[in-house]
Amino acid sequence: MDEAARAHFEEWLRYADDLGLSPFFRDRLTQNPSEVSASAATDADIPAADGVTTPRSRTDLRAPAASAESRSSIGTSPAVSLPIVAGPTLFDAEDKIEGDTLERIREDLGECTRCRLHKHRHTIVFGVGNPSAKLVFVGEGPGADEDAQGIPFVGRAGKLLTQMIEAMGLRREDVYICNVVKCRPPENRTPERDEIATCSPFLLRQLDAIRPQVIVCLGGVAAQTLLSTNQSISRFRGEWLDYRGTRLLATYHPAYLLRNPAAKSEVWKDLQKVMAVLGLQPRKTAPPR
Ligand code: URA
Repeated sequence: MDEAARAHFEEWLRYADDLGLSPFFRDRLTQNPSEVSASAATDADIPAADGVTTPRSRTDLRAPAASAESRSSIGTSPAVSLPIVAGPTLFDAEDKIEGDTLERIREDLGECTRCRLHKHRHTIVFGVGNPSAKLVFVGEGPGADEDAQGIPFVGRAGKLLTQMIEAMGLRREDVYICNVVKCRPPENRTPERDEIATCSPFLLRQLDAIRPQVIVCLGGVAAQTLLSTNQSISRFRGEWLDYRGTRLLATYHPAYLLRNPAAKSEVWKDLQKVMAVLGLQPRKTAPPR
């Protein structure tokens, strides 16, 4: 589909969504819509490709945007499925590649120059961990440390993620860790919509190849990308959602926790839900403070 047709279709989908017609065209997003309980979207968190929406900073996107009241309304409002946002994932990711492997996906990615992010990156940060992991963590995009080392989540936020993983009774090598975009956005800005659209098919292939039992999205960008929604993460954080038949839970990004340590207890509760599903026992030591 060319850019103009895509833009036109996106506008049409937004219009249909405003009219409340989204359930008629959204059967791929939620196979069990009753599991997704969130009120209609108002937050345009992923910047539009046309640049009309003022992009929120990367920091903001990792942080909750909804008020405490709107958060507490999740359980009481009528179940409304997350609205779909038209994008390449709607079309391109539908086709699973039989027998796909992480090696093949990495090969296909190559020394990628598909989007502008390649201009400033040092290293592509593809992903690390167990190729048959039951649990996959998806972050937003590499930072400076990751760009230098080619490994996701190795900076300050990464150290906190490692502590969280260990508190769950796991080691980093038991899980798989990757990001929505594989190249560091300059100045650690939020990846832009077209960059996400270009890179996310590789993420979707990674998830299809690994076939985890649980996907944990770290922050709004990962969650919004996989759920094809523009809703703020605050509206569905800690809820079990469906990603193409796999359980998905979104929680706050570790970088957000570094700035807001009080939110760690919420994240720990979220991770305990994951542990219950995976039958994991917490490590004897207390979760990260
Ligand atoms: N933040 C992310 O989202 N991903 C990383 O790999 C590192 C920091």
